[in-house]
Amino acid sequence: MQPIEDELKKLNQEVMSCIKCDLSLTRTHAVPGEGPFSPQVMFIGEAPGEKEDQLGRPFTGRAGAILDDLLARAGLDRDRVFITSVVKCRPPKNRDPRPREIAACKPYLDRQLELLHPRLIATLGRFAMARWFPGSKISEVHGQVLEAGRIKVVPLFHPGAALHQPGYREAMIKDMEVLAEILGSV
Ligand code: SF4
Repeated sequence: MQPIEDELKKLNQEVMSCIKCDLSLTRTHAVPGEGPFSPQVMFIGEAPGEKEDQLGRPFTGRAGAILDDLLARAGLDRDRVFITSVVKCRPPKNRDPRPREIAACKPYLDRQLELLHPRLIATLGRFAMARWFPGSKISEVHGQVLEAGRIKVVPLFHPGAALHQPGYREAMIKDMEVLAEILGSV
């Protein structure tokens, strides 16, 4: 078996040239995700935004700045977490990803999970949470530690929510502190 690094590089190349759904027609760059091969925690967002699409890197826009701030407040180092998303290409005008796009992109996230073996996952927003808990409401379960087989999943609000509704920020700070606390026990 190839080392994880080679497998991830191969996967990234597949993502960057992928045409499995119509988002390939409008993207500038696909955004596979980035982070260490043995991450403290894996953050999974919804989809790239405008800046991410331009740069090909996850959470580099305004929502990314909020995520960086939340990580720093919780004492987490961005270099030690892996960040990716449910769909790897930007939906036009940042609309919600559609079910067929999520389904087309799912094998890439599945392979990332297989390769990285995270014991702790933080989902950012309802689309990532629905990957494991499709019937749950994020307003009810955010900041809780949920079990998905051997993996612990902590649903968080999407950092972009704080851009539009500043009231979310306090909840996000508290939820991130919960995440930092449980890191020591996984
Ligand atoms: S969103 Fe996923 S499935 Fe669709 S083109 Fe991009 S990489 Fe391929």
